[in-house]
Amino acid sequence: MGLFRPSIYKKSIYDINYGLLKEKGIKCLIFDLDNTLGLISNKRCPDETRELIDKLKKDFIIVISSNNTRKRLKPYLEELEICGTSWSMKPSIKSLIYIKTKFKLHKKEMCIIGDQIVTDIVAGNRFRIKTILVDPLGDKDLKITGLNRKLEAKIIAKYEKKGLFKRGNYYGE
Ligand SMILES: [Mg+2]
Repeated sequence: MGLFRPSIYKKSIYDINYGLLKEKGIKCLIFDLDNTLGLISNKRCPDETRELIDKLKKDFIIVISSNNTRKRLKPYLEELEICGTSWSMKPSIKSLIYIKTKFKLHKKEMCIIGDQIVTDIVAGNRFRIKTILVDPLGDKDLKITGLNRKLEAKIIAKYEKKGLFKRGNYYGE
């Protein structure tokens, strides 16, 4: 599956074994925003997300890489007191290059977490860092994401046929 296959696949950001990631040397978690940290309709950061991120901040550098606008991202960054990049244009790796440089990281210390294969996972795999796919929090997407989902559905169907990937068949620690 190469470019499209996440290193790890979990139901949500709450099901990830962060302790193990830390043990394995991950220092920076790069989260997608829409449908990963919050629903499209969550203009502000949901309480349970804030609680999780606050905990994770003790062990990791937390960054958001979003393809959405600065306006969308801003309330999350302010509330979580972290930094992030808007207009990241994932699967472009430009936000990952920026984050690597800014925090003086090695690629093996970075991990990207998101709900979309064709943006989040492809960006991470192109940059050769650990990638974690989660299921989307909601079924409402931005217009452009709707197009990506169609592409994604095609890719998933192809890999399902080969028995390589199936939605809901979570794997990895
Ligand atoms: Mg997303």
